[in-house]
Amino acid sequence: MTNLAQTPLSERLRSLVDTVQHNERTLRRFQDVELRLIGAQDFASFLDTLFRHLPQEFSLASVTLWLDDRAPMLLELLEPNALDALDLPNLKTSREAGFAAQALCGDGRPWLGRPHEVADDALRVLFGDAPAQGPLRGPATEPASAILLPLAAGTSVSGYLCLGSDDPARFGAGMATDILERFASIVTASLDNVAHRERLKQLGMTDSLTGLANRRYFDERLREEVMRAVRYRVPVACLFIDIDGFKRINDTYGHPTGDRVLAAVAACVRQQVRLGDTVARYGGEEFAALLQGDRADALTVAERVRLAVERLDVTDDHGTHIALSVSIGVAARVVNCAPAEAMSLGQTMMQEADRAMYQAKRNGRNRIETIVEAGGEPAVR
Ligand code: GH3
Ligand code: MG
Ligand code: MG
Repeated sequence: MTNLAQTPLSERLRSLVDTVQHNERTLRRFQDVELRLIGAQDFASFLDTLFRHLPQEFSLASVTLWLDDRAPMLLELLEPNALDALDLPNLKTSREAGFAAQALCGDGRPWLGRPHEVADDALRVLFGDAPAQGPLRGPATEPASAILLPLAAGTSVSGYLCLGSDDPARFGAGMATDILERFASIVTASLDNVAHRERLKQLGMTDSLTGLANRRYFDERLREEVMRAVRYRVPVACLFIDIDGFKRINDTYGHPTGDRVLAAVAACVRQQVRLGDTVARYGGEEFAALLQGDRADALTVAERVRLAVERLDVTDDHGTHIALSVSIGVAARVVNCAPAEAMSLGQTMMQEADRAMYQAKRNGRNRIETIVEAGGEPAVR
């Protein structure tokens, strides 16, 4: 190792710049994988990103995932029937492997090192990409070095992600793990999101054309969120989003193209809100979003949605660009009443957002309006 203090300043700077540039490139590549994970519509595409895209992007010899099939949110996801359909040797759920991983990451921190130095059969299952039994079992499938990352939200660990490399020096004790730990927390949040999506599908609460939640689910979440807002005295807001002149799009380009527009706008809205916010297809060409935040936050998100839709590049069957826009009504509340009184508040808020949306239509479309209560009488702002 060179002693930085003894090398000329220019060389030291060069070396620092190289490091910064290398880190930046690494971060960008991580961001790409992270966006795929966050945007995953189902468990299969989530796993495809982890098991196929991630090792390709980072030249990893193996990626294995252990998930706790007792974790409430993963219960259904990891039902044997569902797993058989996916047939994934890199996905493990055995109790023994979980205990072994827990022992290695005892303090909830990642473990890095050489798998062959860990004499534990249960762990070997995690390090290799071979099944626990069968001809491929054993050290031959083990990577030369590996990192084991706990997937934890708060104190509860729902799984472990293991990245293996053919390079014995790639993962070792004492290395900085902040980028990988950040990655693990995004994997955890995305997993939560995917489990939630899969559950909605099972319950018949999703819209098949757009993949968004449907109105029934939205109304349920609206009640829950308003109650939460009452309990914790936090603000809550909603957006009512309606595509402008959609009938004309159907009439001009045909119903199938209209359907593609709906799916594109749905995905676009979804992208502009936070992972924990609810977006639903509320009606034919109408969407609703439920946000945790106040009016100012909601107006910011609404403007982001409006701009993003305006910039969407959807084309007809001949490749011609279809101009799109939405009108958005915003309603927000800081709830200051007893839970009993709050029961109907969600619906009142949605009606208000709906009225504001019509106001946006009247005022020329491709715009945002909100209704602010003034002296008890709603006034349009
Ligand atoms: P405005 O700017 O006032 O909102 O005009 P608009 O044309 O968007 O509104 P209108 O309510 O007149 O038309 C909505 C259209 O959306 C009518 C309906 O046929 C169409 N629609 C509803 N559901 C679907 C669907 O699933 N697929 C397609 N392609 N069209 C749909
Ligand atoms: Mg409409
Ligand atoms: Mg419309």
